[in-house]
Amino acid sequence: MKYSDPRHRHCTLPSTVDLSSLSMFESDNSITPPPHSEPPSGTISVDCDTLEDYARGYGFEFCDRPNRIFTDALPRFLEVFREAGVRATFFVIGRDLVEPEHRAVFEQALAEGHELANHTWSHPRQFAGLTWGEKYQEVRRTHDLVAAQLGVEMQGFRAPCYDMNSDGAMLIERLGYRYDSSVHPSPVVSMFDLVVWIKSFFRKWELRSNCLVNGFAPAVPYFPSTDSLWRRGEPRSLIELPTNVWPWLRIPFYGTWHLMFGAGWFRNGLNLLARCRIPLNYHFHAVELLGLHEDAIDLRFSCHPGMQLPLVAKIELIRNTILSAQDTYRLMTTAELACEAAENLTRSNAVELIPGLSACEEALCH
Ligand SMILES: [Zn+2]
Repeated sequence: MKYSDPRHRHCTLPSTVDLSSLSMFESDNSITPPPHSEPPSGTISVDCDTLEDYARGYGFEFCDRPNRIFTDALPRFLEVFREAGVRATFFVIGRDLVEPEHRAVFEQALAEGHELANHTWSHPRQFAGLTWGEKYQEVRRTHDLVAAQLGVEMQGFRAPCYDMNSDGAMLIERLGYRYDSSVHPSPVVSMFDLVVWIKSFFRKWELRSNCLVNGFAPAVPYFPSTDSLWRRGEPRSLIELPTNVWPWLRIPFYGTWHLMFGAGWFRNGLNLLARCRIPLNYHFHAVELLGLHEDAIDLRFSCHPGMQLPLVAKIELIRNTILSAQDTYRLMTTAELACEAAENLTRSNAVELIPGLSACEEALCH
């Protein structure tokens, strides 16, 4: 079955709203709709990075055959999503689609209503630093292979390690992409890089060039400036869907941090986002459903956050995460969220946005 959602084809693109005068701090509630009972919209995604990608980051060579991301981790994610009745988005690395047994996992994902989005061809850890031609090859090869092998024209992109810039955004926009979801608007990510570098015993963990500046980007969907990805710009055909952070504090809010800090951390962050009606854009990494001992993973990966937790605990935690998100948000694929967010931004105007922030702050204080 080929995945096709008619809502994508009828998504109207913005044309008249000027949001560029708003600051990044005023932006955290720009999607705030009038008060109503309908839950806010959200999406859950999975980055399909392999153990080999992590090994490169930690500074050692590793060959995972059979590839346990495809034999174990992704089938577990599919099962959890199936149980919950949730459609999600899988960010696919093109290189991994060459093998038929890997492709079969994504065929199953499509058959179950999930979205596939582009996560480059080879997962370069410093995507923003590539030349235009190198970026083009990374995006286009994956796009074309997915179209040829799976019959899907992907509409979304996430750069490896959140390392994205305005050139990359311009490129995917020219290729017809509707959204980018690479910006992680948290300066804490740079600190996280440093910690991982230390935990990898000062090996070559490549520090990412654009993470720090993108850490100050709006924390809700926005039309990025053509000059600076982290700034608001004129309405355009590409929308940025930043991954979630805690409102105001800008602490990262995604699966890896959930494994490190537990269910209470997630529950409080989710409630805060929902009270502010900030769209959920929560992402996991496929490796989070591998067990270090249960799946006989190389012990050099034991330093990876959450890797030492028992697999059964991780399955339970991720299952509960998805169910809680489903209770609080109206979940959809990331492409559908992008479409809805673009339409909301088009309808909004700058005068309405600032009172939205005040209302949310007031609600939190009382
Ligand atoms: Zn990745």
